[in-house]
Amino acid sequence: MNNAICEMVDPHNEPVYSYLPNSPERIKLLKELERQSNIEIEIPLIIGGKEVRTGNIGKVVMPHDHGHVLATYHKAGEKEIKMAIDAALAVKEEWMTMSWVERSAIFFKIADLIAKKYRYTINASTMLGQGKNIFQSEIDAVCESIDFLRYNTFFASQIYNQQPKSDSATMNRLEYRPLEGFVFAISPFNFTSIGTNLCTAPALMGNSVVWKPATTSLLSNYYLMKVYEEAGLPGGVINFIPGAGSTIGNIVLNDKNLAGIHFTGGTNTFNGLWKKVGENLDNYVSYPKLVGETGGKDFVVAHPSADPLEVATALIRGAFEYQGQKCSAASRAYLPKSLWSEIKNHMLKMLKEIKMGDVQDPNNFINAVIDETAFDFIMGYIEKAKNTKDAEILIGGKGNKSKGYFIEPTVIQAYDPHFITMEEEIFGPVLTVYVYEDEKFEETLKLVDQTSPYALTGAIFAKDRRMLSHMCRALRYSAGNFYYNDKPTGAMVGLQPFGGARKSGTNDKAGGYMNLIRWTSPRTIKETFIPATDYKYPYMD
Ligand code: NAP
Repeated sequence: MNNAICEMVDPHNEPVYSYLPNSPERIKLLKELERQSNIEIEIPLIIGGKEVRTGNIGKVVMPHDHGHVLATYHKAGEKEIKMAIDAALAVKEEWMTMSWVERSAIFFKIADLIAKKYRYTINASTMLGQGKNIFQSEIDAVCESIDFLRYNTFFASQIYNQQPKSDSATMNRLEYRPLEGFVFAISPFNFTSIGTNLCTAPALMGNSVVWKPATTSLLSNYYLMKVYEEAGLPGGVINFIPGAGSTIGNIVLNDKNLAGIHFTGGTNTFNGLWKKVGENLDNYVSYPKLVGETGGKDFVVAHPSADPLEVATALIRGAFEYQGQKCSAASRAYLPKSLWSEIKNHMLKMLKEIKMGDVQDPNNFINAVIDETAFDFIMGYIEKAKNTKDAEILIGGKGNKSKGYFIEPTVIQAYDPHFITMEEEIFGPVLTVYVYEDEKFEETLKLVDQTSPYALTGAIFAKDRRMLSHMCRALRYSAGNFYYNDKPTGAMVGLQPFGGARKSGTNDKAGGYMNLIRWTSPRTIKETFIPATDYKYPYMD
């Protein structure tokens, strides 16, 4: 009998390896990149712990060399989707009744396997399959995945510890049941760690999961799934079903046992899921919990007291790292006329130095965008800027998709603060700048707040402390993650819980206890030691 009350240690964030030339980590990574570049693997579905092949095949290619096939994958059809739901429901009783300490041990083990044995596998597959350079991959696929796993386990222990009071006549407790049914996790391409979190957070709390990974992140996501199996996650707790989003979504959302959706991706996709759930409400056993982190149109505002070099650096890193394909990427900037020429000069100088190309060359700050659809979509916005008097391209603006999906980091100056690239999410290496008259600072803050339907991240720059506080108040609802004198990207688990409101999502803060709570349906249990034997109350005498 195991009656230990296990004390989880407050975790620290996984150290980021430096990959300096000739470092042991660089040598191991290069070897793994070469290995994965020279093989073509087959990715099956994994349902109930068993590999399933449908013969309906798709290809995984490198974004920077789209003729290079890394893997073929099997697509789930109706039969396999239903099998995945059945497998999740079948294992539920065993999984939720397993002690939470033992469940936690599996997730700690997954974190340790990613940190040690599979660090280079996960990094190389993210680099080659999703077009990330080594730094972007290391902070995401490895470090953030590990942080989610370790912090969530700590937060789960804190949640389970939150108990009501009892007295001498009664005993009260909260049983943090997992949701009744299964959870549908749908992950985006742009962060391997989000794939990790969307499945493992509900599973840690005792839920079983049907996981629909993004089609363009299958290589790393499949390797993650193999790590889960090696760590001892029982078959059926997470079921991996690649395939077309709409096919899988329609079937899963029609199932009466759908208990929750853990989604990250585009706002329109989430709106579609929400509507479908609404249509099906009468069919469900419970109200499904909907947790979605969606799009962004993230801003940087500089006050005239800001430091121009700091602003320029934040804009370059914030807008162009991972080709701007971060939900948090700086996408619109509001800069005072008095600082503009200095900020512009710094930015242009940096952009002229920046190199673009293959992920395997660490000198390349910019790599390819994820696929042809994204390439065409982003270039469409650049074309709009080329063909208007309301804006001008200051640098960049060219794209080439002949070998890989490359788009130059592009800075647009908008003369109309409502020019389309100031308002809509582009999700690519495009930054639009609006230069405001210094005396119109207050009006500009209103513009920032009201220009886009999103409210994910935002950054303000000022040396004047009173102005920082003022801007923070004025932009209270404009962003769920708000930065003083820093770029709006790079949130770390445990340090800056992540998520936004308005059309950016349900703001349940991935990497925080608030998210984990959503995967529970608490039951309050009261026990009375000596039950009443007379229906009358004393006041009735
Ligand atoms: P996406 O096109 O919305 O896809 C996200 C996931 O949804 C993919 O797995 C996709 O599958 C799936 N999907 C599409 N239609 C579906 C349907 N009808 N039913 C079920 N699943 C469906 O987004 P993305 O291009 O991968 O990611 C970019 C977006 O994610 C951006 O808008 C970005 O801002 C947002 N994002 C937000 C956050 C945040 O924390 N707020 C973080 C990262 C990304 P397929 O791949 O097969 O199409």
